[in-house]
Amino acid sequence: MIEQAQHIYEQLVAWRREFHAYPELGFRETRTAARVAEILTGLGYRVRSGVGRTGVVAERGEGHPIIAVRADMDALPIQEANDVPYASQVPGVMHACGHDAHTAIALGVAKLLADDSFPGTIRLLFQPAEEIADEEGLSGAPRMIQDGAMEGVDAVLSLHVAPQVRTGDVVLEAGPASAGVDTFYATILGRGGHGAYPHRAVDPIYIAGYVILALHSTVSRRLDPTVPAVVSIGSIHGGQADNVIPDRVELTGTIRYMKPEVQGQIHAEIERALQIARALGGDYDLRLEIGYPPMVNDAQIIDLLQKVTIDLLGEGHIQPPHPGMGAEDFGYFSALAPGAMLDLGCRIEGDDRFAHNPRFDIDERCLPVGAAILAEAALRLLRGEK
Ligand SMILES: [Zn+2]
Ligand SMILES: [Zn+2]
Repeated sequence: MIEQAQHIYEQLVAWRREFHAYPELGFRETRTAARVAEILTGLGYRVRSGVGRTGVVAERGEGHPIIAVRADMDALPIQEANDVPYASQVPGVMHACGHDAHTAIALGVAKLLADDSFPGTIRLLFQPAEEIADEEGLSGAPRMIQDGAMEGVDAVLSLHVAPQVRTGDVVLEAGPASAGVDTFYATILGRGGHGAYPHRAVDPIYIAGYVILALHSTVSRRLDPTVPAVVSIGSIHGGQADNVIPDRVELTGTIRYMKPEVQGQIHAEIERALQIARALGGDYDLRLEIGYPPMVNDAQIIDLLQKVTIDLLGEGHIQPPHPGMGAEDFGYFSALAPGAMLDLGCRIEGDDRFAHNPRFDIDERCLPVGAAILAEAALRLLRGEK
């Protein structure tokens, strides 16, 4: 399989560079989706477009098992700083998270499996909007699921490029591998007045000081220290003039957690922190927006990916996981069927190219490695080999 994948290296690079040059933001991936559909149709797949708004689902084969491979297609609102022939042609939009590579790799999987015969069905999920949610707070994965993308799926595979990992290596992690994320929007309500007469006002800035302290103490003082969690305040806005006490202060922040029970606990603690506003004579509003669930990698599928990686690449290419509290909406898919996402090393040696940065780029030699591992793992799952 790795030889077959190396054989289509030029094709993988061409696809990736084409998607890179024409990036599209979440739920606007019309050009990308049309290209994906065209290529898959050409490969003989049954293609359904407009799934989850701008997603594409493609199938080959019949009946069970149904093995899904998922790629995300959206870009970010970043102006590319790289001077390369395939640089973004769209001002202010860039594939700075590698979803161009993910799309090319999944097309590679389609091509590698296009002539194979196997029991069951291979289903490719090209999802929109991994990076953002729509006006109803839903990103591409839940939108695809609403449109039936996961119906009957027996296992689901995916990958994400990892610019901190050596090209040719992968990272595999069983269990919770990325955090659940929620957002809070809080308003501290006081009563405005003259800065020289604070006793006649209820100062929401003074109250915010105590609330911020309590919010920042949630993780260190209220949660089990052995269980990972984050509460970060990302914005604070209040007041306009040096001598005017405003009537409100607005705070927003992000919540990260690995275990569902911790999610509820953090929500309760944030509510308690804001109740300080009442104790100090003010009031508050709090809105919690539920985001991506934690992504949990199935242990058996991670085992399979490990065997496949060793069979294809030999020993010494599996790096230990480095835990973090990033979020990934693949967790919606892997909540519905055993699934796993692997991190695919794509580091350009001697040059840090971090994700979500205007200089992000990858070593394209990772493309056939990713395509081969996903195609081989899918094939073994279809054949019921472990
Ligand atoms: Zn990203
Ligand atoms: Zn990403």
